[in-house]
Formats: sequence, C-alpha cells, structure tokens
Amino acid sequence: MSATFALSVVCASHVAAITVSEKANKLAQENIIIDSHIDVPYRLEEKWVDVTKATASGDFDYPRAKQGGLNAPFMSIYIPASLDNSANSTKLADKLIDYVEAIVGRAPNKFAIATSSADVQQQFEKGLISLPLGMENGSPIQGDLANLKHFYDRGIRYITLAHSMANHISDSSYDLRRKWKGLSPFGKELVKEMNNLGILVDISHVSDAAFYQAIEISQTPVIASHSSLRAFTPGFERNMDDAMIKALGKNGGVVQINFGSTFVTKRANAWSKNRRAEQKKAAEKLGKDSDEFKAFITKFNKENPLPYATLDSVLDHIDHVVKLIGIDHVGIGSDYDGVGDSLPTDLKDVSTYPNLIQGLLDRGYSDNDIVKILAGNFMRVWKANEEYAAKH
Ligand SMILES: [Zn+2]
Repeated sequence: MSATFALSVVCASHVAAITVSEKANKLAQENIIIDSHIDVPYRLEEKWVDVTKATASGDFDYPRAKQGGLNAPFMSIYIPASLDNSANSTKLADKLIDYVEAIVGRAPNKFAIATSSADVQQQFEKGLISLPLGMENGSPIQGDLANLKHFYDRGIRYITLAHSMANHISDSSYDLRRKWKGLSPFGKELVKEMNNLGILVDISHVSDAAFYQAIEISQTPVIASHSSLRAFTPGFERNMDDAMIKALGKNGGVVQINFGSTFVTKRANAWSKNRRAEQKKAAEKLGKDSDEFKAFITKFNKENPLPYATLDSVLDHIDHVVKLIGIDHVGIGSDYDGVGDSLPTDLKDVSTYPNLIQGLLDRGYSDNDIVKILAGNFMRVWKANEEYAAKH
C-alpha cells in the first residue's frame, strides 16, 4: 500500500503497446507466479466487492488473475500507521484476514489459503489460486509475542516491520524522526522470534539503518516484499540503494520489484513529491474538507497528469538487480490494488504478467531465469525460512 495514493482513483484504460507471444503466455500459465504484495484486503475494507468474479474496479479479480497466470498473490494485511500503538491495529488485522477467508469461503473451487511453500506448489497442481498472507506493518503485534503466535496461527507468513511511520518495532523510511536509529529493542527480539516461527522478515518500508540491523540479526534470508531501486529514484529512501541490494544478496534474500510508477522512474517520483507538497499547501490554506480544496485537487490532477512509467522501466529495475547480484535475488511485488492509478503502461493489472514475461524474453532472459523471477527465488527464500523454523 502506498501512503500517498487514494484507492478511489479510477483506473486508466488499457493501452497495450506490446505483442505477447504464445511462448510468454505459456510460461505464465505453466509456471508458478508469486506476487508478494497485493492490497486486496484493504480494498475490500474500503468497499466490498466480490473478487471471486470479474470486478469493474481495482487491479485484481479471479478472471484477470487466471488470465495473467497468477498463482500465489500474497494478500497484504495492511494496517495504516494512524493505528500504530492502538489495539485497533490488532482488530483490523484480524478483520482483514477474515476477508481473505471469506474470499476462499465463497469460492473454494477457485481459491485456497496457503500457509507454506508446499501449499503453493500443491494448490498450483490442483489449479487453485493460493492466497498466502503477509502483514504490512507490525503494529498489530503490540509488543506481545503472543500476538505474533496468534497471527502465525492465522496464516501470516511475512511481516513488513513498519509502514509510513516509526512504530514500536522499527523506524520507517518515510518518517524522518528516526526514533530508534533502526530497530527498537523489541524489534530486535521480534526478528529472532519471526525466524523461530517461520515468518519472513520484510524490510520494505523501513529505514536504511533498520534494514542493516534486520539482516544482521536475522538468521535466515529476508525479503523486500514490494520495493524498487533507488538507483532510478535518487533520494527516495523507500527504495533500496545498490549497497543495500548487495547486502541483501549476501543475506540470500530477494527484492520483489514494486510496479508503481512513482517507485520506478525519477520523473514519476518527482511528480508525486510535488503533488504531495502542493496538496499540503492547499489543504492548509483551504481546509482539507472544504469544497474549494476538492476543486483544487480536481484542477491539479487535470493540469498535472502523472507521467506513467512503462514496462521497460520496470524491466530496467530487474536488470539492475541481476547486474549487481545475479539472477537469484529478484522477483515481483507489484503493489496491485495499493498504488491507485499509478501503474505503468502494459502492467495495469493482474492480467498483465505475460507482458512482463514477454519483456524479459525480449531482453534475452532464459526460461530458467524467468521461472526464478516469477516465483523460484521467493520460494527458495520461503523454504529456507521454513527449514530454519522447523529446527528451532
Ligand atoms: Zn506498502
């Protein structure tokens, strides 16, 4: 989930600039595709829709997921930072997990929860779409390891330590106060307990110091569930810089590339920064609930359209990771349903993974490389965490 986008923005129409070969479609359908960050649960919290059928809005539903060959979209149990340090964060996490269970309850012939890498494999073979769970923001743990166990038992298999503000676990890249200078004392304990249980440590969103402390403490490979590269967005700490990517490679982890345009190109990132500043100024002047403010937003959006990234710019991120640390440490964490109308051309929703595959084929990636990017790398990291937990 992006802290800066409202989900209510209407989706841009599809403009397909790429011709997808039979081979790309075949690779999509015949191999497991894991996308480690899709914000369906919070989309349902904002407005319930039945994603087991075609939906007019949003980036995810069953028919489009099938078309794209998606097999294991991690459902993001996203807790806004406004609920940090409140019991309501724990309640909301339970409620969002209930939504995912409701999706499966409605269509057990289409979906199944997955709590292990083996579940994903077996359910793929049965033709079911797996819905593994990742928690975006550790605030629901509330400093109590009993809550960690509770959420493990409910199926949570990764936790993004913080979201847009420092919480009781970690500093956030978006929050310049740097309350803990990295992880809090509890956060350091939590990482160890997550290792012991088999919950992957997700370093997306945290500050650089928190990232380095997390990989130092973690006995297992970590993930960045939905991060892109700072090399393309200088100064944007939410993305990972080259030194961090190299450290992630040494840790054996995987970075799952976020598709949101503002994560991908310098131009879209600057647009987002400017929009935020202009809106803040206008809200202070006009009052954020006023009709004048709403009129300002409409006018601003019309006069300053987002410069969308392209499929090519997303491929540049994948190439860059591969150049730095090889093919074994990169995957997909689109942030579908989490970044509003900011997705790149040709990657507008879950039906478009074949476009990504075509792009990889066109850049000379082998079938074997592509299979690693689609799921193999993430599965390796997940299995390493499962094996560690089984022994501890
Ligand atoms: Zn996010």
